[in-house]
Amino acid sequence: MADPTGAPGGRRRPTELTVSDHVDGVIAGDRTILAQTITLIESRRLDHLATARQVLTALMGHTGKSQRVGITGVPGVGKSTLIEQFGSNLTAAGHRLAVLTVDPSSQRTGGAILGDKTRMERLSADPNAFIRPSPAGNALGGVGRVTRETILLCEAAGFDVVVVETVGVGQSETLVADMVDCFVVLMLPGAGDELQGIKKGVLELADVVAVNKADGDNIARANVAATDYRHALHLVVPGSSNWTVPVLTCSGLLNDGLDELWAQVISHRDRMGASGERMARRADQQVRWMWSMIDERLRDRLRADVGAAATIAALEIQVRDGSLAATLAVDRVFDAL
Ligand code: GDP
Repeated sequence: MADPTGAPGGRRRPTELTVSDHVDGVIAGDRTILAQTITLIESRRLDHLATARQVLTALMGHTGKSQRVGITGVPGVGKSTLIEQFGSNLTAAGHRLAVLTVDPSSQRTGGAILGDKTRMERLSADPNAFIRPSPAGNALGGVGRVTRETILLCEAAGFDVVVVETVGVGQSETLVADMVDCFVVLMLPGAGDELQGIKKGVLELADVVAVNKADGDNIARANVAATDYRHALHLVVPGSSNWTVPVLTCSGLLNDGLDELWAQVISHRDRMGASGERMARRADQQVRWMWSMIDERLRDRLRADVGAAATIAALEIQVRDGSLAATLAVDRVFDAL
């Protein structure tokens, strides 16, 4: 079918909008322009990047006012069911909610575990909700930038709750925990023996733990799991002396315990706000993000430098065959710079 905008792929090209079109549209809460502005910041074209920077700069004064909530859990823990219900409760209570997803699978396989809009049909149709899947084909570092900037855009568009959802796999959890105010970890009932290993790492990131699917035959097992997680949390160095990570049980399917979950997110926000840790955490996140971008850009610059790239390729061979220590190779790269 012919595309009325004439743009390839049936999408309007964001370049059709000026910086002030983007800025005014986002501030007015225009969802179409918000979506186009996110597409703009996802783009890797240099002219798009330049426009995106101007748009972000102009919007900075309108950002920061949302509660940023990360939600993670293994595939099948019930994230999309829970977010759909939790989000519907929030919009019914008058909130405006944005749901962003960070999907580590989409970069490697091209397919997505998350990021599929049909996962949250009710929320997708809710005028007070905005759902944006993970940018496809971006490296995790790129996803980090895009997601952080998308949070800012959604805030400027007036969304007061931003949920960032991610699969409980690998580095994406750390990435998301480092861009939100409150990180919620969903667990399955009866997972006591899984406490070792990967789960302990994620508990260290948690501000709230919720054992999901606490319904029907699962209730007793969910309570046992909650007790196990409470014990396990004693072994984790607390992130704040002003907050004891609560472990609650809930059922996204039956809309049970979701009010309590929100109450804990708000309680965490208020406690951290009062102690000054909320703003300190955001400030630390910004500085860490700055450094990760510096790292990334230095690497890009090294790779783009033809001379350095040749030197590094030669050094890599020597490091690989054991004729040169990695430390010495790094010295030589920096000597050559
Ligand atoms: P996700 O992969 O974490 O997003 O999980 P989904 O929300 O897609 O749910 C995975 C499966 O668990 C689906 O079959 C859901 O119907 C089921 N499920 C989700 N939430 C609950 C819940 O609260 N209780 C029960 N019993 N099942 C649930």
